[in-house]
Order: sequence, then C-alpha cells, then structure tokens
Amino acid sequence: MTAQLIDGNAIAQKVRDEVKEKVAKRIAVGKSQPGLATVLVGERVDSATYVSMKQKACADLGMTSYHHPVPADITQADLEKLIKELNADPKVHGILVQLPLPSHLDEERVLQLISIEKDVDGFSPINLGRLAQKGREPLFVPCTPYGCIYLLKEAGVTIKGANAVVLGRSNIVGMPAALLLVKEDATVTVVHSRTKDIPAVLRQADIVIAAIGRAEMVRGDWLKPGAAVIDVGINGIPKLDAEGKQMISAKTGKPMQRLVGDVNFEEAKEVAGFITPVPGGVGPMTIAMLMNNTFRAAEIQEP
Ligand code: NDP
Repeated sequence: MTAQLIDGNAIAQKVRDEVKEKVAKRIAVGKSQPGLATVLVGERVDSATYVSMKQKACADLGMTSYHHPVPADITQADLEKLIKELNADPKVHGILVQLPLPSHLDEERVLQLISIEKDVDGFSPINLGRLAQKGREPLFVPCTPYGCIYLLKEAGVTIKGANAVVLGRSNIVGMPAALLLVKEDATVTVVHSRTKDIPAVLRQADIVIAAIGRAEMVRGDWLKPGAAVIDVGINGIPKLDAEGKQMISAKTGKPMQRLVGDVNFEEAKEVAGFITPVPGGVGPMTIAMLMNNTFRAAEIQEP
C-alpha cells in the first residue's frame, strides 16, 4: 500500500473532544446547554440508526437532544407545524430533519422552513447561497462536505492551487463540497452522470472527492499517482464467504451485506497518496461536524 490512510474515526474523535470541551466551558459560565431536535419521519432502519447515533453523540458531548419520531404518513401540514414549533422553541438550537422523507412530502419546503440560525445541516438555500458567494460566509456548512475538507486539512493535503475533482453534484454533498474547495482556492471540476470520459478527468486530479453512490466505481487506474482520495460513498454489496457464496445472517435469515465506498479501495490505495476507508473515513466526520454546528448554533442564538 502506498497511500497514507486518513483515519476518520480518530480525526472525528478529536473534533468531538474539542466540542465537548467548548460545551463544558459554555455551561460552566452559566449559559444554556446546546440542544438538537431530531425529526425522524417513518421507520426506515438506516434513518433510525443515523438519528440514534446523532442522539448518542449529543449525550456524549454534554448536549441535549429532543427526539421527534413521527409516523410515515404524517401530512405536510403537520410536519410543517412541528418545524415551526421547533423554530420557536428556545431550548432547541439546531433542527435536523433526517432525509430522505417519504415521497408524499415536499422535502424542499420542509428544509426551507427551518430557521437559518437553526439550520445545522446547512441545507437551506440561504446557507448554500452564501457558500457560493464571494466574501460571504454561511452560518453553517453542510456536515459531510465540511468533514471532507477537514480530513484533507488534517492530513496535510495542500488544497490551494490543487486540481480537485468532485464526483457528484447533489445539494447535500457534491455541490457544497465543490463550493468549499473553490473557497479554499482549488481549481474544481464537478463530474456527474452526463460527464464524458470520467477516467480522463479524474487522472488530472490532485484531490478527488467521490460522492456518487456507485459501489467501487472509481478504479485505481483512474487516479493520478499521489492523489488525495476522499470517499464519501456508502454502498451495501453482498457479503461473500471464502468460496464466493452469499453469506446469510444466522440471526435474521437475510442475505448479509458489507459496506464499500464509491472508490475501489484495494486498487486505489496502491496509487493514491492519501485515502479514506469506508467505513471509518467520512462517515464519523459527518456526525462530528453536526455536533460542531449545533454548538455553534447555541453560540449564535445565545452568545
Ligand atoms: P445523490 O444520489 O443525491 O447524487 C449522486 C450524484 O452522483 C449525482 O450528482 C449524479 O449525477 C452522480 N452520479 C450518479 N451516478 C453516476 C455515474 N455513474 N457517473 C457519474 N456521476 C454519477 O447522492 P448523495 O450525494 O446524497 O450521496 C452520494 C453518496 O454519498 C451515497 O453513497 C451516499 O450514501 C453517501 N453519503 C455519505 C454520507 C456520509 O456521511 N459518509 C452522507 C451523505 C451521503 P446527476 O446529478 O447527473 O444525476
């Protein structure tokens, strides 16, 4: 292996320790405990797992979480009413609506309702717009892209002047990651499903942020030797035994899966200069940055 592994677990722990210390100091001077409201619509297992990890992180860092599980068939009006109540609640400094929402709900409208000072996910058009504008700063940077940039900096990767390629242009990962890289003075190319000859584009990249949701699509020979590779993808693929047969869970009787990123790690680690693993790379950073944003939200609302 030639690449240096970027340990997301260790770096996320460092961020969490710093947030914990800042929270303790805030409480010690008599200010309120930062509070995060989590809204979980329906019973998707993955969404419920993410929300419970966020609640646990709040408890670990001395913050309060207020959990609002609501049924999958909640009406748009009732969900909007809940968001408005949370906007008005002074104990709640940050509001997190776990995505995706069931298809009958208008996600955009719900996200737009969250007041900008409580938009700890950074998904509101105002926060994203500010990220895109020169000389303006968003109140909150979306957690996953924020985590990606943080990992690059911690690894000592030079962003200024680098050729960066972001794979994916979603509102929550690809596009804000590209905007952040521009702010850091990288020269940025955004690749998407209509891009021609992706391998040729990638071979020019000193920095790659992959966020497309396609298991192991980026091959080792698509990378420039020495590139820094941040793999955001989380994809479940069949877990096979030593003979190549699908493994079945003894507990559930269901086919087992293992998680891989958007990058073929085994190939890429022989070419890249730096690489994040999946799991244990970007994933833990997302929650750490959410905690940082929630602390910041409390400081903005009750300085
Ligand atoms: P989306 O599905 O919203 O966006 C995917 C993007 O990838 C789109 O811009 C799409 O292009 C592009 N794309 C899809 N297929 C291809 C292809 N074959 N070639 C080139 N571009 C392609 O995904 P998200 O941004 O929400 O998530 C991306 C990945 O990151 C997922 O695996 C997700 O699970 C993971 N993720 C991980 C997080 C973490 O904490 N680690 C947090 C959030 C997401 P187009 O716009 O043209 O359709």
